[in-house]
Amino acid sequence: MPSTAAAKRHAARIARLLAEHYPHASCSLDFQSPLELLVATILSAQCTDQRVNRVTKTLFRKYPTAAHYARADLPQLERDIQSTGFFRNKAKSIQGCCIAILEQYGGQVPKEMEKLVGLPGIGRKTANVVLGTAYGIPSGMVVDTHVARIARRLGLTAEKDPEKIERDLMSLFAAKEWVVLSHRLIHHGRAICTARKPKCNECPLESLCPRIGV
Ligand code: SF4
Repeated sequence: MPSTAAAKRHAARIARLLAEHYPHASCSLDFQSPLELLVATILSAQCTDQRVNRVTKTLFRKYPTAAHYARADLPQLERDIQSTGFFRNKAKSIQGCCIAILEQYGGQVPKEMEKLVGLPGIGRKTANVVLGTAYGIPSGMVVDTHVARIARRLGLTAEKDPEKIERDLMSLFAAKEWVVLSHRLIHHGRAICTARKPKCNECPLESLCPRIGV
């Protein structure tokens, strides 16, 4: 979708209203370090953040560094994260990432997009979460299922592919807004613009939303 002046004005109005409505929106995953946020984000696939936070409360104490995950007994790690679902793939991904982080980056989660997406099982979404929220680097917008749905409904993109949606959003919003705007859209998707029954009557964006596909 071309980022015309009209499209940018539409986007700016949306950003302003979201800021008024969700002034303190932030990441709802608990973490104290980039590694913890990376692990929590891997665990959050197909799982609620509340459940992930319950699991990571003990997980982070048991595995305080990348080396702990790298040398963990894989079946034990699977049991430790079992309640988040898809635990075999997630355990493999966490361990694979931590081995690479240890061998290639001295145990520190890298701060570069190319290096992060080179880790096993890590795509742009997870990399953007880690860079934006743990390191404060606006590398792009986090396009999860909420952001993708709302961006289409609001007419900010016509794309379905997350990377193309991200490109459209990055062309409409200033880089300094990307991180906080991603959090605000995710909160909006959970609270009001839900997948099945969006609460358009209660929505602060209703007056400017074309409600595409609703
Ligand atoms: S008006 Fe409806 S479709 Fe548009 S953003 Fe609000 S809840 Fe979503």
